Amino acid sequence: MSESYEYDVIVVGTGGGALLSALRAHDLGMKVLAIEKSDQYGGTSATSGGALWIPLNGEAPDSYESAFTYMKAAASGTTTDIKIRAYLDSAKDMIRYLNEKTALRYRVNADYADYYQDIPGAVDTGRAMEPDPFNGALLGEEIQNLRPTHPGATLMGIGMTIPESNIIATKAPGWLWTLLKIMLGYYLDLPWRFKTKRDRRLCLGNALIGGLRHAMLERNIPLWLNCPLESLIHEDGRITGIIARRKGSPVTLRARRGVILAAGGFERNQAMRDQYHTQPSRQEWSCTPKNLNTGDTIRAAEAIGAKLENMQMIWGTPTVRSPKALQQGQQAIFAERGFGGSIAVNKQGRRFVNETISYDRFVEAMYADHAKTGGCIPAWIILDAKYRKNCPLGPLLPASVLPDSKIPKEWFGDFLFKDDTLEGLARQIGVNSAGLMESVQKNNAYASTGVDLDFQRGESAHDRYWTIKGTSPNPCLVTIDQAPYYAVRVDPGDTGTKGGPAVTEDAQALDQSGTPIPGLYCIGNNAAAPLGRVYGGAGGTLGPAMVFGYRAVSHLEKT
Ligand code: FAD
Repeated sequence: MSESYEYDVIVVGTGGGALLSALRAHDLGMKVLAIEKSDQYGGTSATSGGALWIPLNGEAPDSYESAFTYMKAAASGTTTDIKIRAYLDSAKDMIRYLNEKTALRYRVNADYADYYQDIPGAVDTGRAMEPDPFNGALLGEEIQNLRPTHPGATLMGIGMTIPESNIIATKAPGWLWTLLKIMLGYYLDLPWRFKTKRDRRLCLGNALIGGLRHAMLERNIPLWLNCPLESLIHEDGRITGIIARRKGSPVTLRARRGVILAAGGFERNQAMRDQYHTQPSRQEWSCTPKNLNTGDTIRAAEAIGAKLENMQMIWGTPTVRSPKALQQGQQAIFAERGFGGSIAVNKQGRRFVNETISYDRFVEAMYADHAKTGGCIPAWIILDAKYRKNCPLGPLLPASVLPDSKIPKEWFGDFLFKDDTLEGLARQIGVNSAGLMESVQKNNAYASTGVDLDFQRGESAHDRYWTIKGTSPNPCLVTIDQAPYYAVRVDPGDTGTKGGPAVTEDAQALDQSGTPIPGLYCIGNNAAAPLGRVYGGAGGTLGPAMVFGYRAVSHLEKT
């Protein structure tokens, strides 16, 4: 006989939505258990930027009507008014709860603009929020089980907030001091330094997950690692628990009120990608942690009759390969596209998008161009010696820090291509040379006028966040004219998938007839994205994961 335990609520997964739900369920008087399949908690959420897109957050001026208009237009029919209104009604309650009931402090990042600046209701500031750094020492030994930040988002392992990395990467006034302060803070943290290499100043998604886990520890809410869900218990028309595996044996976890599936999407399951996605679609292009989110819980819900939706959609993000030796998987290029001095081209050597546009739209443009030309997957980022000297690109540090002479030889021709001429570079990467020459010439002409006649690069507030300030007339448009020239391959990667069980505005999973399945809730990338295709702004996936987790618990309380 397998071991058996009973709780009010079982939360499956340990990302932002999962831990917030576990916390709130506990605070509303329910007995909760969170389980995690891997040996670290936090999932992709812990490796993320930790930003939350929270309209009407009470900290910045906003209006219900403009936020609603924006979200509805951005969703273009892929969700319902009811779910948009549910989000707008609960987002501020969730963020207030987080700021008041945990040691986390989320604030508006005044420089972040909404991602669809061309849509009515968009704002150029006020809806994206991010966490202050969190003191990881408060976690005690439990810091060791927190999934670390992706190395690419740190200063060689040292934590940075997004505003700090923006100041350093764009060489804004005070950048050197900011860099020094972060480094000194780390190295002079002496008692802690003798203990571990790990920075206890948790930033980004590590701050979010560290802060939530700390609040759970304060309340003694259990979290079991190495405990994957295997199936749901479906009895008398409702979900009454799950079967999981613990220490190699099956364990029955009964849930008196309900189960919240928050175990991510299926971006790391190639068979599911082959089945549902527009091709080509490769799991290795994802910049999420390897082997975690393989859709197990989506399949488990499907097996008891849940209806799946949005399975073709991803949270698109262009990614670049890492040199094989680093074994870091693919890395998102969020900031790099803002710097100017590089262009993205297809196999014909032609630009196909405003390179600086939000990452999800960049990937949409790759697929759209690939459908037309057959040559945009992969695409290529082309840059010159000026860019290379001053700016990073994925795992490649600027030449001022890591000159070509210090780069291992095997990186060239694998991750990085280099040539003294654009024609030679085009030949190396199999791109049409005449097309590339023409695209570079156009870019250089646009750099002198400041106007990108093809894709309007650098015209919106969103485009200018990661620019090198003071570059005129348009900081996103910089000439590409100094040899040697470089190319890096770009794939249509993702930060997760958007499809899963269809849900109500309270995150209840629906059956094939559209009726809620009692006792089963799905949130985050474990659900069909409740806001449809909308990636409203920075925090556009974690925001909904946490807000709908908050709403799921309110609903559970009433059952
Ligand atoms: P996850 O956070 O991945 O959590 C799922 C967890 O479930 C994992 O720990 C997994 O191991 C576990 N699990 C899987 N299967 C099982 C099972 N069978 N049983 C038990 N547990 C299981 N989004 C934002 O909104 N803001 C940002 O700033 C942001 N920045 C990003 C930066 C990067 C580099 C990346 C990669 C992503 C970023 N994202 C951001 C996207 C965001 O991180 C994800 O969309 C979000 O974390 C998904 O949350 P989730 O809870 O659905 O999944």
